[in-house]
Amino acid sequence: MESLRFKVVDEAFNRKADPVEIPSERPEKYYGKYVFNRQKMFEYLPADTYQALCSAIDNKQPLQREVADSVAEGMKRWALDNGARHYTHWFQPLTETTAEKHDSFIEHDGKGGVIECFNGKLLVQQEPDASSFPNGGIRNTFEARGYSAWDISSPAFIIGNTLCIPTIFISYTGESLDYKTPLLRALNSVDKAATAVAKMFDPEVEHVRTYLGWEQEYFLVDESLYSARPDLMLTGRTLMGHESAKNQQLEDHYFGAIPSRVEAFMLDLEIECHKLGIPAKTRHNEVAPNQFELAPVFEEANLANDHNQLIMSVMAEVARRHHFRVLLHEKPFAGINGSGKHNNWSLGTDKGTLLFAPGRSHTDNLRFLTFTVNVMAAVHRHNALLKASIMSATNAHRLGANEAPPAIISIFMGSQIAGILERIEHSTNAELTNLAARKELELNLSQIPEIMRDNTDRNRTSPFAFTGNRFEFRAVGSSANCGAAMIVLNAAVAEQLILFKKAVDERMASGLSQNDAILEEIRILIKSSKAIHFDGNGYSDEWKEEAARRGLDCETSVPLIFDAYQRKSSVDMFRTTGVFSEVELAARNEVKWEMYTKKVQIEARVLGDLAINHVIPVATQYQSILLDNVLKMRQVFGIDRTDLTASVTDSIEKLTQHITVIREEVAAMVDDRRVANRLESEREKALAYHDRVVPHMDTIRYHIDKLELMVDNEMWPLPKYRELLFIR
Ligand code: ADP
Ligand code: MG
Repeated sequence: MESLRFKVVDEAFNRKADPVEIPSERPEKYYGKYVFNRQKMFEYLPADTYQALCSAIDNKQPLQREVADSVAEGMKRWALDNGARHYTHWFQPLTETTAEKHDSFIEHDGKGGVIECFNGKLLVQQEPDASSFPNGGIRNTFEARGYSAWDISSPAFIIGNTLCIPTIFISYTGESLDYKTPLLRALNSVDKAATAVAKMFDPEVEHVRTYLGWEQEYFLVDESLYSARPDLMLTGRTLMGHESAKNQQLEDHYFGAIPSRVEAFMLDLEIECHKLGIPAKTRHNEVAPNQFELAPVFEEANLANDHNQLIMSVMAEVARRHHFRVLLHEKPFAGINGSGKHNNWSLGTDKGTLLFAPGRSHTDNLRFLTFTVNVMAAVHRHNALLKASIMSATNAHRLGANEAPPAIISIFMGSQIAGILERIEHSTNAELTNLAARKELELNLSQIPEIMRDNTDRNRTSPFAFTGNRFEFRAVGSSANCGAAMIVLNAAVAEQLILFKKAVDERMASGLSQNDAILEEIRILIKSSKAIHFDGNGYSDEWKEEAARRGLDCETSVPLIFDAYQRKSSVDMFRTTGVFSEVELAARNEVKWEMYTKKVQIEARVLGDLAINHVIPVATQYQSILLDNVLKMRQVFGIDRTDLTASVTDSIEKLTQHITVIREEVAAMVDDRRVANRLESEREKALAYHDRVVPHMDTIRYHIDKLELMVDNEMWPLPKYRELLFIR
């Protein structure tokens, strides 16, 4: 029988690029075709309904029932006109994917037939049977029901033949069971806090918006090769596989042309994105072979996050059309770069000012410094929590490895800003404002955006970098819901801005000018949050030591990292900002530990199965061939000619050792799993999996990878790294 591996390699090799149906119109014609945006609302809704809906969206107010009925009617007509047959509330449970339950529009018409209808109640609120979604015990303690409710700030859209309505997902008693609810709360809270501070510089400001521009990294693997790797199929990453002789050393993939099959996929994906109103803009190869990136133009954070959630599923769909599988796992392959999802984050006023952008005037610069330094203070105070927000069983494989942000949060500011911060720290207000001459802050900030651009690209080792008019949170994982990071970051900054405003107000009440009061506070924050600022090499060992000396969180155990959510400082911060109650925090951590355990458990089972049923049988078969060879050599040359058989017997010995260790380790791993599974507390269980089960997996993999190098290539059952990474 031809081996599965060679069959799929052959299939993958012979695959050609699939043709893409390119619309005859330009993108501006079909952009947002499947989105119920304001243009469609205007077209399909009565004028007063349209006004009422827009006003509710703009002023963040709830929708009146009569308005909802009228919106539902118009939305249904639009959806049917565009081929929809079903509708669903689309929400983001804590499983890190999206959930949907489809209903068709049909109802009895009372005459034995059906009509298609949809009303305000169905649009606005539903009770999905949500007991199968993780809730960390909230619904057991309180009520079994969960509600989903329309988030009117995110427009409905059509996928295939389903109208999708973005919703929040909460328990009967109002606790959030998703990412969207706390994200909206955090965005509200930073809006309020930042508006109060922004008003000090521009009294006209009424709202501050949060912007998010994510950069989605991913790998593509041919579907035939994928289907021959049970580990990829079941866990999203390779649990074994020796490094390919050539991988990313030459960085030739990054600079090379996009392979034609991949280009077809990217084009197809881009067209889909545009029809769904996702402003996909950038696409390119990444450093690792078969690794790529997609980035849109940034948008308001809640919408941007919905779009990222959406794109992850659209990517999977489109990849299938091109006989690829898309890997969103943070570390699908050992030894080469993993995938992240840089979160470019900024705040901007409703008057169009980006608050982290340096400007030309004195006020602009003081505003820039105020917001930037407050971010430093917030990130410093909550560095452990920010790390917890991006941590997961999957991202743990990427962080701390030598090509990704380290598992320590620090901020890169660049030498220009660093110099300015130092000057402020060591000068008096009078020196800084040069009173005699112009009452101007002499900081020369106007050239910063230009300078930053060259400067930051050289430091890719920082998990959180200032990049000219925004911060780039790079530690976020490629498969994550950006919401987790955005909730913590925005809430932490909101809390800090509230403290800042209060302190400045107090100084002003005691007679200081606003200018001086702000400078005093900035100076204090620069001093107190110094430890978070690090422009050096984040991958170096010296940094780990230095960071520990500075008191930054250096914990590397995933289950322990999650503890940060329940620290007093976190609980207080989430309470002040109204983002999470203590009950919600406790429940969420239960879910986080449970998810960690489940992911490791699945991996451990798959690895055990592959080791015992795929690898060892082949290794023993090969061992027998070698043994046979030794016996025959002895028959021909005599038993004394050990010089002729030494290298083979040596190989047999090594093979046997590897096989023995693998058998023993798999057995020990199963035992440790049993012990862990009996633990009651989710936290203890996750810790047991982390401390006891994971080390076995590492050992097993090491020995399997050694066997891969020894066993006859013709016999090896699973596609090798060179095949997975270089065939496209
Ligand atoms: P790179 O980091 O690769 O140099 P780009 O300059 O292309 O990336 O930008 C990456 C992402 O940052 C894009 O999604 C872009 O829209 C987004 N971005 C740019 N400016 C801002 C901003 N002020 N706030 C949030 N995101 C932004
Ligand atoms: Mg970037």
